[in-house]
Amino acid sequence: MKNIKTRFAPSPTGLLHIGSIRTALYSWLFSRHNQGEFILRIEDTDLERSTEKNIQMIIDTMNWLGLNWDKGPFYQTTRFERYNDIIKQMLKAGTAYRCYCSKRRLEEIRKQQILSNKKPRYDGYCRDKTINYNLEESFVVRFRNPKKGSVVFNDKIHGMIKFLNQELDDLIICRSDGFPTYNFCVVIDDWDMEITHVIRGEEHINNTPRQINILKALNAPLPEYAHVPLVFDDGGKKLSKRYNSTNIMQYRDDGFLPQAILNHLVRLGWSHGNQEIFSIDEMKKYFTLDCINKSSCSFNFNKLLWLNHFYINNLPTEEVATHLKWYLQRQNIDFNNGPKLIELIHLLGHRCKTLKEIAESCHYFYKDFDEFNDSVKKYLNNTSSEYLKVIKDELNMINDWTVKNIMEAITNSTIKLKINIGKIGMPLRIAITGVYKSPSLDVTIYAIGKSRTIFRIEKALTYIKENIE
Ligand code: GLU
Repeated sequence: MKNIKTRFAPSPTGLLHIGSIRTALYSWLFSRHNQGEFILRIEDTDLERSTEKNIQMIIDTMNWLGLNWDKGPFYQTTRFERYNDIIKQMLKAGTAYRCYCSKRRLEEIRKQQILSNKKPRYDGYCRDKTINYNLEESFVVRFRNPKKGSVVFNDKIHGMIKFLNQELDDLIICRSDGFPTYNFCVVIDDWDMEITHVIRGEEHINNTPRQINILKALNAPLPEYAHVPLVFDDGGKKLSKRYNSTNIMQYRDDGFLPQAILNHLVRLGWSHGNQEIFSIDEMKKYFTLDCINKSSCSFNFNKLLWLNHFYINNLPTEEVATHLKWYLQRQNIDFNNGPKLIELIHLLGHRCKTLKEIAESCHYFYKDFDEFNDSVKKYLNNTSSEYLKVIKDELNMINDWTVKNIMEAITNSTIKLKINIGKIGMPLRIAITGVYKSPSLDVTIYAIGKSRTIFRIEKALTYIKENIE
């Protein structure tokens, strides 16, 4: 069997949204499953709307998600010579022709067709003319689409799809400014790059018969086609319209792990039994096109959160730490002076759904705070001052700073004070963290370290003395 070759061919005219990335993932997985090749092709022929920034965003997103490509990125803008050569050949062979119809004429026939309830399409006026036009006159090049018969292809997801040739226009393949058109470039690229499987969004189904006809006219082999259904948001709206989903990198900035995104995306429209959690290796192992659903599917933000929480706690901690490191650096959080990131993930991972939440809750491990905010002040009073003095002494006596010894020091303090642990817990937590939510006290105190803990209790005592007494 021929070596499988797939491609992801985004147009850099906007941000990459979930639907496009899901297409990229399916295309990538299909090549990986079959030990084939995966190509990245940037379809930048729309010179006005394509930007460098969008191209960089595509590359960054693919890299971040680990969707590596074997060849490319290829840029269509570097291939104009090749496209124009083929257009010349087609004109010579008669599979394409020059069309000199003016805009006004085209508008006129369009109007007439609409009035008589016909589908607006080019009427073939220049198709069989052999007039010697003035070479100065502007023209487009149209593909000579067969008039009779039909185009049938067996879509790997939708099954047999048939279009009648009489429904198809003589497509413009080169515009009057000399630039080849999108549908034409795609055909030449897929041919030259020997793509065996075109996996792309469902919105391209209507392009496929046109592209097949051009390939046939060129005697080029036909690839297989798989058109993946659209992705909707929870409310059934098309995803690309929504702000937070138009930019996949927004999820990185919101503290999601690539693994969680990929797991959610792979399950949007593809299944393997009832399995919900897939490692990348499992995705590669199980992915086939026949298990993709025909119907569209919905992106579910809560499910993504659930998966992210799962992966924060179940991926190798070193891997999560790499992402967390990037995240904390970006937030200017200096994490060198405190618990190691691996320790931090063990401390906070089970209570956080995103890296953002970890970043927001980890400050007290690394940085002293100068003030108590209003919501916690009520826990700092004369009674708690008495408790804090006792616990400070107990903690100070610890020589071997272990979680067990810290717990023992807390218990000893409650015995000395003849109170239960509930009374001492909150003031102590506020004194050392400044907030009233943290992992359990013993591990928190352990991670903060002895000198810092004592220093902070002293600071709380001074605060009470200066503000309460
Ligand atoms: N460039 C097209 C897009 O971004 C994809 C074309 C294709 O996959 O054939 O929608």
